[in-house]
Amino acid sequence: MITRRRLLHWIPAAGAAGTLAPLAERAASQASAGSPMLSEADPQAKSLGYVSDAKRVDKAKFPKYAAGQHCAVCQLYQGPTSAPAAPCTLFAGKQVAGPGWCSAFVPKPG
Ligand code: SF4
Repeated sequence: MITRRRLLHWIPAAGAAGTLAPLAERAASQASAGSPMLSEADPQAKSLGYVSDAKRVDKAKFPKYAAGQHCAVCQLYQGPTSAPAAPCTLFAGKQVAGPGWCSAFVPKPG
């Protein structure tokens, strides 16, 4: 199985990072499509306030959260908006829930 790390290692060696990076991201995303779901108990997930359902965001702790924000509409979500779960560039080897949220949320452009 080709891992994201291995793919990203090959690209600079090929001297074509700018050209191949999107392809590598897509391949890495597909390679991890069957990866396990991120647990809210994961230390990194906890530090970023990840929840698998944005309805449970601690709004007192994360006042920047706004209604409508969720993983499926975040730039770091590596799947289509309609996907119930997909990899996130912050959590290698794991999938996050489409309705989830964390404090690193960045809205998709458009
Ligand atoms: Fe979800 Fe975006 Fe946080 Fe990843 S960075 S867990 S896609 S809100």
